[in-house]
Amino acid sequence: MDRRDALVESFMEAVRARNSGEDEFLQAVEEVARDVLTVEKAHSGYTDARVLERLTEPDLMVQFRVVWEGDDGATQVNRGWRVQMSNAIGPYKGGIRFHPSVSPSVLKFLAFEQCFKNALTGLPLGGAKGGADFDPSGRSPAEIMRFSQAFMAHLAPFIGPDLDVPAGDINVGQREIGWLFGAYKRQQGVFNGALTGKGEAFGGSALRTEATGFGLVYFVCAMLAHRGEEIAGKRIAISGKGNVSTHAALKAIDEGARVVTLSDTSGTLHAPDGFSREGVEWVMERKAAGEDIATPPAALGLQWHEDTLPWGMEADIALPCATQNEMDEDAAKALVDGGASLLAEGANMPLTSSAISVLDRAGLLQGPGKAANAGGVAVSGLEMSQNAQGRFLTREDVDRNLRDIMSDIHRTVLDEAGSADAPDYRQGANVAGYRHLARAIASYGII
Ligand code: GLU
Repeated sequence: MDRRDALVESFMEAVRARNSGEDEFLQAVEEVARDVLTVEKAHSGYTDARVLERLTEPDLMVQFRVVWEGDDGATQVNRGWRVQMSNAIGPYKGGIRFHPSVSPSVLKFLAFEQCFKNALTGLPLGGAKGGADFDPSGRSPAEIMRFSQAFMAHLAPFIGPDLDVPAGDINVGQREIGWLFGAYKRQQGVFNGALTGKGEAFGGSALRTEATGFGLVYFVCAMLAHRGEEIAGKRIAISGKGNVSTHAALKAIDEGARVVTLSDTSGTLHAPDGFSREGVEWVMERKAAGEDIATPPAALGLQWHEDTLPWGMEADIALPCATQNEMDEDAAKALVDGGASLLAEGANMPLTSSAISVLDRAGLLQGPGKAANAGGVAVSGLEMSQNAQGRFLTREDVDRNLRDIMSDIHRTVLDEAGSADAPDYRQGANVAGYRHLARAIASYGII
């Protein structure tokens, strides 16, 4: 073991001891530690200040009981949380996720990642994440509304425009943000920008819903341009059927690419010649109605493959947009065999550590989620400044800003990514985000 491996190992030993069993969180921290503790110019000056260690301890973490009534009159009990990881460079900022897999480990990993992602946007945004182990599938809109209101009853005292500004995440879209904001407004008796992702009728930004998926495609365009290539004509495999996947698909189609897959947990929709816009819109409608995507109308030219991941299909580019650790070692091997040479993460931490090793060995270029999916939170940052100034940017203004932010993130990450011919974008994102956070944290003294 060389000196740097030993440094990472002793750091991780302490983090493991304090967060035992929190596998997702430990995975996210180790990935960053490997890069920032081993790149000399990243950590020099900050190791003594124990900056990374401080970033692994949430500033504040709350857990609360959420009690609500089902349509059948039965009382339901769930758990909710908010993890405020760091406000070193701005108010806490990060989404709310409603999913049965939500746990302290998952939220701590997401809040930790969010600190780095938000730093990369260049906007003054700290890192946080929240959510509940509530499963909205099979629940009526009235039940989801009551759940959202009960959730906000506990969260409201902890948020505010200069304090903590939640947004959406998995299963929390504009509709749920409307319910959450309505409950916040009634309870606190104020109207302010305490949430982003709002409807445009009450302070929401144009293009916020599309932003993560559109930004992901802009980031891919920047990665391709660096290699002297363009997106038009490329075959793109996308996983998921949610907000990020479907908006990435629509933008990729607009840019002349061929989207060959979308998927859910039960299988993959394959379109060897590429999805039409109508095909993607059909998936969006089914998802909104809470229905499966296994039986597309024949006119859409889509084939359903039960129990199959998108990664075995032939493609040039992969965009995992579903959830954490969705791509394991075997899936990564299948992706390499399918001919892909580039991947960008629409989801947060969608690859297991061994999947990353497979892709690294194959020389496959990888845009990490911290950089590639930062478009959503970047437009949330624009929504916050629009709310603070009482103004509204047009769709065109926001789109121009989003393109510029994604290309600035690409440049910032590339500067720290080692060789220009074979950039290590993961290292670039970790090091660039860390340096920004470390500069702020070290400036505050011992606190
Ligand atoms: N949930 C999104 C993310 O993972 C957006 C967060 C936000 O806009 O605050 O970055």
